[in-house]
Amino acid sequence: MAADLPRLPPPPPALHDWALLLDVDGTLLDFADRPEAVRVPAELLDTLSRLHIALDGAVALVSGRPLAQLDALFAPLQLPAAGLHGLELREGGEWASTGQPPPGLALVRDAAQALVDKFDGALLEDKGTTLALHWRGSPAAEEPLHEFATSALIGLPGYHLQAGKYVFELRPDGADKGHAILALMSHPQFLDRRPVFVGDDLTDEQGFVAINAHGGHSVLVGQRTPTAAHHALHDPDATRTWLRDVALRLAPSGPVNG
Ligand SMILES: [Mg+2]
Repeated sequence: MAADLPRLPPPPPALHDWALLLDVDGTLLDFADRPEAVRVPAELLDTLSRLHIALDGAVALVSGRPLAQLDALFAPLQLPAAGLHGLELREGGEWASTGQPPPGLALVRDAAQALVDKFDGALLEDKGTTLALHWRGSPAAEEPLHEFATSALIGLPGYHLQAGKYVFELRPDGADKGHAILALMSHPQFLDRRPVFVGDDLTDEQGFVAINAHGGHSVLVGQRTPTAAHHALHDPDATRTWLRDVALRLAPSGPVNG
């Protein structure tokens, strides 16, 4: 079984024909107690700048965070990106956003906040059209938050529950990383390139499946069984080192200014 084989990093690019699609939290960045507390190393910004130039712009962030947060985190870089698992898309400067949240979401948000407030360390992240209930700081909250999120779906037609690392997320149907990647790959900057997707979470599995179907490299950060990913990197630090090596291989000379 392929699932039992040790997974290695993907082979280095022989040509400048890759399209890099990168999850953010747990992949490029180390986790923090709160989503807003993550740090973006300066060297990572330099690496992404180099890759962006070397791959003619075919470097995208694919995240559950809103685009506005991604831009704030990675400033001054403004990469093509899929935010909110693809509900927000920006490809080469164009922006396509989704519609209004359903009326029931405000009620669910208020009830979720009241529940989260009972658990020290639990957190409600309001992303507009999606709600994320984090229990990383409060293991005792896992079960109550899961029960809440499951029952909240009754009042949110067209929504589903996605579990991630220490988080339950209520999000609209069709918002997943597989769809997000296919949407990005249809853009001229990415078309006809070999897609490489790196991600760490359960929510990235749909992305791995989409990448495999397009002859690309699927790369899991960390360990999980089963997974659809064909390759693996140990942790975000290993991802950053690997990306830097790829950047040096593609553009061995000259610093990137800015
Ligand atoms: Mg992640």
